[in-house]
Amino acid sequence: MTAPAHSVSRETSLPRPAAPRVITVANQKGGVGKTTSAVNLATALAFGGLRVLAIDLDPQGNASTGFGIEHGPGTPSIYDVVVGGRPLAEVAVRSPESAQLRVVPATVDLAGAEIELVPLAARENRLRRALRAFLASDPVDYVLIDCPPSLGLLTVNALVAAREVLIPIQCEYYALEGLGQLTRNVELVQAHLNPELAVTAILLTMYDGRTRLAEQVADEVRRFFGPKVLTTVVPRSIRLSEAPGYGQSVLSYDATSRGAVAYATAAAELVERGAPTEVTQPDEAK
Ligand code: ADP
Ligand code: MG
Repeated sequence: MTAPAHSVSRETSLPRPAAPRVITVANQKGGVGKTTSAVNLATALAFGGLRVLAIDLDPQGNASTGFGIEHGPGTPSIYDVVVGGRPLAEVAVRSPESAQLRVVPATVDLAGAEIELVPLAARENRLRRALRAFLASDPVDYVLIDCPPSLGLLTVNALVAAREVLIPIQCEYYALEGLGQLTRNVELVQAHLNPELAVTAILLTMYDGRTRLAEQVADEVRRFFGPKVLTTVVPRSIRLSEAPGYGQSVLSYDATSRGAVAYATAAAELVERGAPTEVTQPDEAK
């Protein structure tokens, strides 16, 4: 199940979940590795034989770039879904990396969505509705949603649409700052909009094993979040920052790099841990 130690092959086969797992990658802090994690975990899951839908919900469109997906102005995108009510299936495109992976791009149009959503009916539920309709006819195994660095309406839409939250935490100073606010928001969404929501995984990113600081931050995060923290830690790796420049995941760009192995291992760990409530019935349509 776990990835081979020295490189990532496309032949691993990961077990399917009982029901589609919808995971939102969130942290209102920018530059902590949300997009890098969403892109590479989604790709690793697809390389593992699972059917994956990745949704770019950040107006910056970094995940779209990382997946090598066209996202210039006017490209059919997540904006058309959350603001325009267009079906997700119409805007999802197949990733050049894997036939198992589809990506919903984000364009600059999405920058206006935080405001445009305000007067719309059920503004917090727009993505959830679209995703339910999509999954009803196309039950992929995993949905990963890459959030913008804010706690605005787009992130709220992602938290309402998902059942699980994965929080990437950068192993640097101030790592835990702002996490209280994020977990409070998760609790608010849970209390009022989405009772099934839970933080299920914390992923330590940009770990520099040569520094005491990284180790201290990792220890502190583990003390704070306990077993929610994935055992796998993503090391600081130049390959991870180079890959998006080629519109590739690190798994395609350099399958032998430490970053590629780390993300493949983290993906396998997510799969092995399973959904928190996998024993209960999948969501009924609403
Ligand atoms: P976010 O989506 O939270 O803003 P990103 O995933 O875009 O964060 O990462 C921020 C920057 O750090 C990007 O330039 C990315 O390429 C780089 N980066 C992310 N993870 C790593 C890592 N493990 N090692 C080195 N660079 C990384
Ligand atoms: Mg990002």
